[in-house]
Amino acid sequence: QTSSLGYSLIPVVNKLQDICSQSGISLPIDLPHVAVIGSQSSGKSSVLEALVGRDFLPRGPNICTRRPLTLQLIQTKRGDDGTEEEYGEFLHLPGKRFYDFSEIRREIEAETEREAGANKGVSDRPIHLKIYSPNVLDVTLVDLPGITRVPVGDQPSDIEARVRTMILSHIRPRSCLILAVTPANSDLANSDALQIAGNVDPDGSRTIGVITKLDIMDRGTDARNLLLGNVIPLHHGYVGVVNRSQEDNMLNRSIKEALAAEEKFFRSHPVYIHLADHCGVPQLAKKLNQILGQHIRENLPELKSCISLQLVSVTKEYASYGVTKESRGGQGALLLNILSRYSEAFSSLVEGRNEEMSTS
Ligand code: GDP
Ligand code: MG
Repeated sequence: QTSSLGYSLIPVVNKLQDICSQSGISLPIDLPHVAVIGSQSSGKSSVLEALVGRDFLPRGPNICTRRPLTLQLIQTKRGDDGTEEEYGEFLHLPGKRFYDFSEIRREIEAETEREAGANKGVSDRPIHLKIYSPNVLDVTLVDLPGITRVPVGDQPSDIEARVRTMILSHIRPRSCLILAVTPANSDLANSDALQIAGNVDPDGSRTIGVITKLDIMDRGTDARNLLLGNVIPLHHGYVGVVNRSQEDNMLNRSIKEALAAEEKFFRSHPVYIHLADHCGVPQLAKKLNQILGQHIRENLPELKSCISLQLVSVTKEYASYGVTKESRGGQGALLLNILSRYSEAFSSLVEGRNEEMSTS
């Protein structure tokens, strides 16, 4: 499902970042993160969940996402006996492991209320959640509140401007890949997602168009021209998806069933069957991985020279310890060893050799 490119590059960069932060060194690139943007109820949270493959985000026809949620996925090793431990941990509840994903959803809702109140208020203070699982890529995803125009509940009169500012602050860094979500049952020319993405990424080099709700378009219409970029061209193009409807949510349809239903929908559709590389969550994951990998690759030369510099200074420092300071020397040697291993791995990547790298 996911491209090997992402698998080979992203873990190594994440690992490197871990090593660097443990050693008090800063990594010269911002790791790519992926943010979903669009109007309220366009299906942003649904798309993120489908990409992660687990049910844990508040979703629904009203305003559900009222604070940014940064979701760091961390790939863990499978147990020796093949067991797959998956759990979540919130920054605001350190040490508490959530094995039940519906409890994660409840905690997101509770933590949203603590900060933004119970009456539809919105806050720009993010909730930070880490999910540990053998079945994910090491990548950070950001779920954001959607654009709305008319204030409801406790929302301030300038709700639209506030949410726009919040979204822009998350997607402005060049390291952010933007999933611009537009429902197929609205006009693409009115897309909030494409409009906002265009502000920070005018040439579309880091925007992917996502068209949701292909299943509920007006009868007699289809999204062929949208998906092919004939309506509004986009450098990385569009992927169409079918997420769960509100009825599916009420019937507790699982994500697995949803993905199977999506596949069936596309396979049995007279138009979409011919657009397979523009359709479906697995296709979106694939595209995302390709672009993430490409992004990291573009940053490799900078990364490599930075590591080389740090390597030189660690070598010097190590030499200066001499034989007297055993323990610090030992630490230095370890760091040196690690850095040179990664440096080699990166050199070969930069030079285009793409052998499998160990990340352990
Ligand atoms: P968000 O506000 O953009 O995060 O949107 P949500 O993911 O919360 O979805 C809003 C509502 O639209 C929910 O009731 C979803 O079940 C529904 N929905 C999302 N995507 C689709 C889709 O592709 N098809 C259908 N039929 N409903 C969808
Ligand atoms: Mg949402």
